[in-house]
Amino acid sequence: MIPYGKHNINAQDIASVVDVLENKFLTQGELVPQFEEALCEYTGARYCVAVNSGTSGLHVACLALGVGEGDTVWTSPNSFAASANCARYCGADVDFVDIDPSTRNLCPQRLAAKLQYAATKKRLPKAIVVVHFAGLSCDMKKIHDLCQAYGIAIIEDAAHGLGGRYQNKAIGSCEYADIAVLSFHPVKSITTAEGGAVLTNSQALAKQAELYAKHGITRRPEWLQPHEQGAWYYQQLCLGYNYRLSDLQAALGLSQLTRIDSFIQERRRLAARYTDSFTRSSATQNFNQYLKLPTQSQAQDSAWHLYMVEVPINMRALVFEQMKSQGIGVNVHYIPIHWHPYYQALGFTKGAFAHAEHFYQGAITLPLYVGLSDKEQDEVISALETALLVAIQETGDEES
Ligand SMILES: *Cc1c(COP(=O)(O)O)cnc(C)c1O
Repeated sequence: MIPYGKHNINAQDIASVVDVLENKFLTQGELVPQFEEALCEYTGARYCVAVNSGTSGLHVACLALGVGEGDTVWTSPNSFAASANCARYCGADVDFVDIDPSTRNLCPQRLAAKLQYAATKKRLPKAIVVVHFAGLSCDMKKIHDLCQAYGIAIIEDAAHGLGGRYQNKAIGSCEYADIAVLSFHPVKSITTAEGGAVLTNSQALAKQAELYAKHGITRRPEWLQPHEQGAWYYQQLCLGYNYRLSDLQAALGLSQLTRIDSFIQERRRLAARYTDSFTRSSATQNFNQYLKLPTQSQAQDSAWHLYMVEVPINMRALVFEQMKSQGIGVNVHYIPIHWHPYYQALGFTKGAFAHAEHFYQGAITLPLYVGLSDKEQDEVISALETALLVAIQETGDEES
């Protein structure tokens, strides 16, 4: 089975982890600060707090921004549930802004309209979590301008975005956001097995993020309240969590980060190869009306976390099953967040965010990762073409 995503580990990665095991602190040593510094250097963000997952990073981001009970946080329905759950952890309500079907990202026009309406009802959100879906940046300038007018904080869920760019800056630079959150899960741009990072240009938010990720406890003299204790003294300033990344993981992350440019280059090459192939076969086999490819408008800037095609809704299950049976580990991203029973129980209904739902119902994620060989990719391509032909026949859609 060719999986849809996979980590890439080399001898240098292994040696740096072994070096920690043999010679260094397993946690709270020097490697986490080094990893944080390297992430700042790579993204251009001023501050970084490494955490043990992207999900805890999103939680910390909401806490640092003061999200709490009585607040509302908006996000895209086309994301992993963690983009919304982070607000729920803080006791806040969640609402969604539908996507632009061409970018599959939160739609700035819909955001503008929804903000205008919410302002009249005095129900503006405290923060918005935008998601750079599949590694393609949201229109951050537009979203920033809209949110600034209402004083709404912006969190970038950049779990897909590391290595991607927006207006010539790295995703994660926080140029147009208060906080950006990365994930280092094995299918993401780089991995630490589990891990994440909170990036910001605000000193105040960086302090809050660090506290919330480390029990609320600090030894930094400049943060301590006045005391007459000795050098051993520390204080708990707020109710924080143990969301620390370990040095073992940071060693892997540091080693992975040295290869990120080649990782992204390879993802981009494979994505372009899919697009070229499908553009050709669409022309020769009349697939045009059956196969929608990812937008190519910013193809060179995407981190290419995922390569997703869309087929007609009545063909998706067939194409998916056909490809699975041919050993292709296709996947689907995402089941709209508001479709999950947990969110349905909160009052969301199907049909409420039509573009995200339409996208989901036709979506298929193709294998894309560093280490996917051209030969394997050719297998994926021909499996999709065969599956499409079968689906066109079986749904009797030949003549349409
Ligand atoms: C992976 C992912 C997360 C969560 O990251 P973890 O490190 O797995 O906790 C959050 N949001 C999106 C969009 C993701 O893809």
